[in-house]
Amino acid sequence: MKAFRLLEMRIYGVAGLTALAALLLGLMMLESSAHSRQAFDWVSHSQEVIISLDGIESRVTQAESRLRGYLMTRDTSYIAGFDGDLVEARILAVRLKNLVTDNPVQRARATRLAQLTDEKALVMSAAEQRTLANPTTSIPNPKERLRGRILMTALKQQVDAMRMEERQLLSRRAAQAQTKVAESKALLLYGFPLLVLLIGGIAWFVRISISRPLADLLDVVTRFGAGDRDARADTNVSSIEFRRLASAYNEMADRLGTINDRQETRQQSVQVLSEMSQRLQAIQNDGELSEVLDCFLPQVMPGLSGALYLHNHSRNMLIRTASWGDPQARPETFQPGNCWALRRGQTHSVDASGTDLICPHAAGPDPVVRCCEPLLAGGEVLGLLYVEGVIADENRFRIGMLKESVALALVNDNLRSRLREQSIRDPLTKLFNRRYMEEALALETARAKRGRTPLSIIMCDIDHFKRFNDSHGHEAGDRLLAAVAALIQSQFRDGDIVCRYGGEEFMVIAPGAPSSLIQNRAEALRVALRDLTVECNGRRLGPVTMSFGIGSWSADDAGSLGAMVSEADRALFEAKRLGRDRVQLA
Ligand code: GH3
Ligand code: MG
Ligand code: MG
Repeated sequence: MKAFRLLEMRIYGVAGLTALAALLLGLMMLESSAHSRQAFDWVSHSQEVIISLDGIESRVTQAESRLRGYLMTRDTSYIAGFDGDLVEARILAVRLKNLVTDNPVQRARATRLAQLTDEKALVMSAAEQRTLANPTTSIPNPKERLRGRILMTALKQQVDAMRMEERQLLSRRAAQAQTKVAESKALLLYGFPLLVLLIGGIAWFVRISISRPLADLLDVVTRFGAGDRDARADTNVSSIEFRRLASAYNEMADRLGTINDRQETRQQSVQVLSEMSQRLQAIQNDGELSEVLDCFLPQVMPGLSGALYLHNHSRNMLIRTASWGDPQARPETFQPGNCWALRRGQTHSVDASGTDLICPHAAGPDPVVRCCEPLLAGGEVLGLLYVEGVIADENRFRIGMLKESVALALVNDNLRSRLREQSIRDPLTKLFNRRYMEEALALETARAKRGRTPLSIIMCDIDHFKRFNDSHGHEAGDRLLAAVAALIQSQFRDGDIVCRYGGEEFMVIAPGAPSSLIQNRAEALRVALRDLTVECNGRRLGPVTMSFGIGSWSADDAGSLGAMVSEADRALFEAKRLGRDRVQLA
């Protein structure tokens, strides 16, 4: 939190500055008022000096005029306050001396004035005493009078000089006091507004550097909280701390945005994968599997291309079941040995730089990332997912889910196929049962009619099978039935449908086969039967013979498709009647 220590320091700094300014102003005011008080003290001091001077002069003058009145009239009432005046004058002179100790010139004058006052008082007191002793005979002494007058003149000169000096001092001191008062006023007038301005400046600084950015940030955070994902703080603020705070917040908002986006993408992934998975669980054949994959793969992995391969029944070939995008490599089929992923049972990814071997089935002209993902279920390899392009995290997740969904669907489909097989196969001979035969016959009849392609059927029956059963037992009969069924199955091609019609009777539906061809096949089967024996309880049994009835339809024929089965049945009956072990055409 170094950033905020800096801010703290700045706040303390400005607060300290304000306090210092206030303190300084206070001190200046205090000093200014002390100076003014001092100046006024000096003014009153000068006034006191002048009052003392006036006092001395007036007392001495009054004492002189009292003495003069008494001397002229010999009336003692004139000298009633005479002594008091003199004492007062002398006290004032002493006090004046003490008052002017600060000023050496005045001090010298005051000392001289005190001497003159004392001398003048002595001269006057002597005249008074002499006259009071002999009121009738006493006459004025001219020498004494002259001396009194000289003393009085000197005293007045001294008083005038001192007063003059003190008046000058007074006017100077008064001016000084005025200046001090003006200074105090100016301090008050300018100092306080300056202090107020300073405090205002600090408030403004706090607002600019703290309150406003804080309010802006709060606003942005609130907006972000309310769902505005684009809300970002302004990093163009003066305060470094808030600039950092805004940057940190923006970074956090960006990261949160990315997480949200990722969550949304994941939600979309789960949605589309679950949609696909539901469809896959409901497929009924390989055709539907391809349809579902063709439709969903571009949605599951947009921006990439590839194909899905599944094993054929004999597991010696991979067959392309679906593809999406425009992959460079998408062979219709390839052998499992041509894929490194299938050989090793794990993901095989080669990036464009060619750091690993490219599978032969994935060869293409352009440098792209090629990735083979084996489809596994219960330890068995079911197929391969081939992807072209750089696979980002989200697509890795999707590939994982896709592989599982497809594998699960294939496993389910295999299970369903097995159940279906059980319901349409005869358990003893493993041939299609009569129910399936009827379905297949209806389907093939319709197809032949639509495509105007030939359709043939063979109905065949083991000759004297009751006798075989009777002489060798039921178990031997069953074994023979299974062997005959396997032989019939082996004599016809994949597209032909071989069924157990019931008991020891069989039917072969041969779509696209004309009667001549099917007659040859039946003939070949009849001949092959001669070598068929079965072993039961250590005895070799057989061979047996069979009779065949053939029904056939072609577009040029006049005959109807519906009558084909009964015609074949009639032909079989005919074969039996003519001595068995033969092929009879309807
Ligand atoms: P034909 O030459 O006229 O066909 O004489 P056939 O004896 O073969 O004919 P038939 O219809 O008289 O007898 C059929 C025999 O097939 C009766 C039955 O014992 C036997 N059979 C039918 N189904 C089975 C089976 O599932 N197992 C065994 N072991 N025998 C069966
Ligand atoms: Mg029969
Ligand atoms: Mg029979």
